[in-house]
Amino acid sequence: MSKRDYYEVLGVDRSAGDDDIRRSYRRLARQYHPDVNKSADAETRFKEVNEAYEVLSDHKKRTAYDQFGHVGPQAGFGQGFTGFGGFGDIFEDLFGFGARTQQAARRGPLRGADLRYNLTISFEEAIFGCTKELEIPRLETCPACGGEGAEPGTTPVRCPQCNGAGEVRQSRQSIFGSIITSSTCPRCRGEGEVTPSPCRECGGQKRTQVTKTILVDIPAGVDDGTQIRLAGEGEAGINGGPAGNLYVVLSVTPHDFLHRRDNDVLLDLEINMVQAALGDEVEVPTLDGTEKLRIPAGTQTGRSFRMRGKGVPHLRRKGRGDLVVTVFVRTPTDLTKEQTTLLQDLARTLGKEVVPTHEKGLFDRLREAFKA
Ligand SMILES: [Zn+2]
Ligand SMILES: [Zn+2]
Repeated sequence: MSKRDYYEVLGVDRSAGDDDIRRSYRRLARQYHPDVNKSADAETRFKEVNEAYEVLSDHKKRTAYDQFGHVGPQAGFGQGFTGFGGFGDIFEDLFGFGARTQQAARRGPLRGADLRYNLTISFEEAIFGCTKELEIPRLETCPACGGEGAEPGTTPVRCPQCNGAGEVRQSRQSIFGSIITSSTCPRCRGEGEVTPSPCRECGGQKRTQVTKTILVDIPAGVDDGTQIRLAGEGEAGINGGPAGNLYVVLSVTPHDFLHRRDNDVLLDLEINMVQAALGDEVEVPTLDGTEKLRIPAGTQTGRSFRMRGKGVPHLRRKGRGDLVVTVFVRTPTDLTKEQTTLLQDLARTLGKEVVPTHEKGLFDRLREAFKA
């Protein structure tokens, strides 16, 4: 397993102080954190940065590393190395894969990138669920070479530039003596081997771009902004690494007259002043078709009625929210002569005084007026 120089990984000088190392580590850890950075090599870089910091932030380990290089801290402390490569070494040493050991460890597996798909669904689809067919453009393992990158029938060979080490070392003289620096081999990009005849299908890239059709079940009760995670439906990994995930992010188009507040559905309903005064049974359009709602006599404008269980299904438990119907009393504007006469008769019985409602309840005042 070839490793990059820890100072190089953290981008600091060999004489860097603890503060410089910590500052540089924080910056890189933020940059490569897999939750933030979705590029294919972010996870590997993140682990590399952590491993480097683990050694360089510890005085004993750092001294050993300065003296012996990568062998030092591994041999001397032997713990806390969670990088893919390190694990591969241990695993394959235990099981003795012999000659393949070095290759497999060097060509470390990389997890595929996560993908995001923005999907727009209707108001009803969000409430009752649906199945959608998505066309996902993504990188999949090349079927021709099986992700090896070499034309079938040929095999990768040891990189001539780094002789399979994956890194190239340069030694230069300084006042402190000779300093050896190592960097990733530019020819094999650290893999330690090159393919003399790259796969014709993928051009040696190990993956090919395809458009995959997948069916997604949208559960009942999702809302605008809900994310659905489809594990392993992102881009394929490299060198046996796991595939990334696909995140389907939902947008819900608004309904003509229904609104949503969490699991309740809201409906504004107009009634006329006679229905409000005398009461009525009205038909209400619900998600499940037309339902009857009783408006009691003396209903004020703005009053709400709950129709239990006529709302949105709960996403993770049984049951549904409610349909909340808010009634608004519509004042008539185009009265006939007869209607006008009727209302004038009514007005006489109610008394003509205008009562400010905030002083005392309107009906209290009317009641008093009737007593007089
Ligand atoms: Zn291929
Ligand atoms: Zn090389």
